[in-house]
Amino acid sequence: MPVKGVGTYDPQNVFAKILRGEIPCRKQFEDDWALAFHDIAPQAPIHVLVIPKGAYISWADFSAKASEAEIAGFVRAVGQVARDLGLEAPGYRLLANVGEDSGQEVPHLHVHLFGGRVMGPMLVQR
Ligand code: AMP
Repeated sequence: MPVKGVGTYDPQNVFAKILRGEIPCRKQFEDDWALAFHDIAPQAPIHVLVIPKGAYISWADFSAKASEAEIAGFVRAVGQVARDLGLEAPGYRLLANVGEDSGQEVPHLHVHLFGGRVMGPMLVQR
């Protein structure tokens, strides 16, 4: 069920539980600002989710409320993860779903990082 990109943060969402260590993840990267882990249902040879450590629902919420340090830390973490995975030269795709129209399912901001193959058209045609 898609979620709204703004509103009240639900601390019981699955990524909040991963951040608290209540459920496991296949960790790729962690620093003071972000956690990155492999998607449980990968849609590319490499499919990693990068999430900020703060309680933000979506890009809409984060861009409006996060501090400069949180924003810088998160953006740098996304770039670091791509470098660590060796994806800078071949390239990669970033995607963030925001709110109902996007189909966002987990109400904690996450950037999908896809790599390991040619990505093809940006959106599925309909
Ligand atoms: P979105 O539709 O943008 O909200 O994407 C949510 C993503 O989270 C999907 O690609 C799911 O496969 C992924 N996901 C859900 N639960 C887990 C989990 N426990 N560990 C890793 N990835 C997850």
